[in-house]
Amino acid sequence: MISSNISEHLEAWLLWQNELQPFLFDDSFTSEIQSGLAQLTAEPFGYGKPKDLFPAQKVPGKVEEPIDESLPPLEKLRIKAEKCSACRLAAKRTKTVFGEGNPNAEIMFVGEGPGEDEDLSGRPFVGRAGQLLTKIIENGMKIPRGQVYIANIVKCRPPANRDPMPDEAQCCIGFLKEQISIVKPKVLILLGKVAMKNLLGLEGAITRARESTYEYDGIRVFVTYHPSALLRNESYKRPVWEDIKKAMKYLGMM
Ligand code: SF4
Repeated sequence: MISSNISEHLEAWLLWQNELQPFLFDDSFTSEIQSGLAQLTAEPFGYGKPKDLFPAQKVPGKVEEPIDESLPPLEKLRIKAEKCSACRLAAKRTKTVFGEGNPNAEIMFVGEGPGEDEDLSGRPFVGRAGQLLTKIIENGMKIPRGQVYIANIVKCRPPANRDPMPDEAQCCIGFLKEQISIVKPKVLILLGKVAMKNLLGLEGAITRARESTYEYDGIRVFVTYHPSALLRNESYKRPVWEDIKKAMKYLGMM
């Protein structure tokens, strides 16, 4: 009797489960689960969809201001260089060293890249080598430094003052080429092998290269030693002065 009751109850319970089944897994229940899951996935912390958790405009310092088109061309280019992160040198720079001087200069000096002092100040050739270049310009050529234009092949400091790598130089050279086309100097004086190689495509020693003059985009080019080489080797002073005099003669300054 008891077993017959149990059997009846079990049968009734199974029937009830059977009837319940469609309600547990009908379409509305399924879509409710799906929309709940979608909400959980899309808004885990109430910030919106996962891909929008850190939209660019919410990251401080990442807001890209449009460049004021009414600025002078060199100024617009300087702003572009300051924002540039096209090569690995951007990662460790303190300041981009764009270049400085007279935007209508007849003489443009080109070095290789910023050192520590330049990286800190954002100005080219301000360290010991830069002070020597300033003496060459002001005491030797007898013109104020601000009358010439000074720039480098790369605008950000290579670590430990190493030479810029070929890919870094190639990545950055567009800025220098545009500086040259804006300033339109009559004379380019390339300081050292890195400048010579990247602007003229010339390999080899400065000792040989300085025996000739060159042309870049219709501009007369002179090659000489980098001022930092003069700091290491005083015997380079005479040849550097000879090279500077060649440029001055070309310009009718002596
Ligand atoms: S070195 Fe030139 S290309 Fe590289 S990040 Fe600096 S400005 Fe940009």
